[in-house]
Amino acid sequence: MGDLTLSNVTKSFGATQVIKGVDLEVNDGEFCVFVGPSGCGKSTLLRMVAGLEDVTSGDVRIDGERINDLAPAKREIAMVFQSYALYPHLTVRDNMGLALKQAGTPKAEIAAATEKAAAMLDLGPLMARRPSELSGGQRQRVAIGRAIVRTPKLFLFDEPLSNLDAALRVATRIEIARLHRELGATMIYVTHDQVEAMTLADKIVVLRAGRVEQVGRPMDIYNDPDNTFVAGFIGSPQ
Ligand code: ADP
Ligand code: MG
Repeated sequence: MGDLTLSNVTKSFGATQVIKGVDLEVNDGEFCVFVGPSGCGKSTLLRMVAGLEDVTSGDVRIDGERINDLAPAKREIAMVFQSYALYPHLTVRDNMGLALKQAGTPKAEIAAATEKAAAMLDLGPLMARRPSELSGGQRQRVAIGRAIVRTPKLFLFDEPLSNLDAALRVATRIEIARLHRELGATMIYVTHDQVEAMTLADKIVVLRAGRVEQVGRPMDIYNDPDNTFVAGFIGSPQ
């Protein structure tokens, strides 16, 4: 299972409140896309769900269990960033297996999980290389592979394709959609790209200045935006 519930979640950095009371339900297996202007709090929300940032108030629950105080490594959540955050001195194989190794997983199990993820992402021929020997698209595939290896309940993607060129973006987007179908995991995906949002999402969440402005299915938001702000994000070319 991988139901995520946010209840009246806020986040302040010092005296500045940047997340201002977010309520949100993401259902098991759903592909949920966050859109909104730069600085509206998309990354901060993901980081709180992942446990990389403390929640100031409110509750974060997975399958009903409050996880506010759970260590990131115990959350069964994987996050894929815009920058790949791979260790430069480790091979692809070791980058992918590191989280499992850290969790004390037996070597044979790590090898099996790593090989399976590599097969899903066509990374087999690259396993002995280091990140400097890979293209940007290949690095992002490794970063996705590293996330899959742990078989998390919930995947968080923070603008994962924004460093890739147009053709690679399309190819990788299709790959992420396929992974979602094959894994059946819950995914939350932040993007600036309307095409990505419209094609990937079961549910779109439009954020504005630390609040949820509108939530809905892509075509419902597209056809029936609540206001011009939402229409500007989803209904017109950028
Ligand atoms: P987005 O991902 O939507 O562009 P962020 O979540 O990165 O937005 O940022 C939301 C707001 O919180 C911004 O005003 C940003 O400057 C602020 N912010 C983010 N991280 C920190 C931090 N560690 N310290 C202080 N302010 C931060
Ligand atoms: Mg961000």
